Amino acid sequence: MYILGNWKNSLSSEDSKKLAEALHTHINGRYHDINIVLFPDDTSIETVSLLFDSASMVKVGAQDGPLGSNTTLTGSISLPNFGKFCDYVLLGHSERRMLLGETDEMIAQKAALAIDVGVIPVICVNNGDGTKIDPYFDLKAQLESILDHIDSKSEFVIAYEPIDAIGTGIPADPEEVKNIAGIIHETSFISRNVKGSPYIPLLYGGSVNDKNIKSFLSLEGIDGVLVGNASLTADSFLRIIKKVSDPKYLK
Ligand code: PEP
Repeated sequence: MYILGNWKNSLSSEDSKKLAEALHTHINGRYHDINIVLFPDDTSIETVSLLFDSASMVKVGAQDGPLGSNTTLTGSISLPNFGKFCDYVLLGHSERRMLLGETDEMIAQKAALAIDVGVIPVICVNNGDGTKIDPYFDLKAQLESILDHIDSKSEFVIAYEPIDAIGTGIPADPEEVKNIAGIIHETSFISRNVKGSPYIPLLYGGSVNDKNIKSFLSLEGIDGVLVGNASLTADSFLRIIKKVSDPKYLK
């Protein structure tokens, strides 16, 4: 079970530190069955990562990763810092796909590099712009591009985040998410049906909070959630974690 908190660029470094400290106080030594991963902005990764030592159940991730090992790229996190402070990396968030024009190829390249340095990619896929006749065309294209470029034995996570559910307070219909989870698992299984391929955990993201989380976690094929707004205060994030720690939702 995964609970991921995407802090985006919403917090000052002081507030990131305070939030991490509050979570540390309440989480450390508890919730051993949940993979909790925090994604602070780049200025706070080191602070947050040092706070949660290796014994803690909380892991830390970057909100984007380097594009190449030998590429000089202004604005990128350095590869050594990335490998040193991050356990996970978010890639392909729809905000970056739309605002920065990130392509599936770039996302796949970043994912492969992350895997090389031992960082687990969380690859975000979405439902596209809704203009295609096949409503799943964009989703399948995003998935196939990633699956084609990544070694089938490598470990990564997929997060399905429908565009109109992100940051709007209106989550997707759980029935629709259940159908899409089936499509994602089937597509992944077909392209990675190689002996030794690990299971790919699938998360849902989009306006998740403590009130609606159960309707997503109880879905077959959903292994956790990616949370934006509701991860920005200790109270709301801890309310989610407490709900999830109910044994009937632990998968
Ligand atoms: C996100 O940005 O990845 C996200 C899921 O945000 P929110 O929970 O605020 O919709």
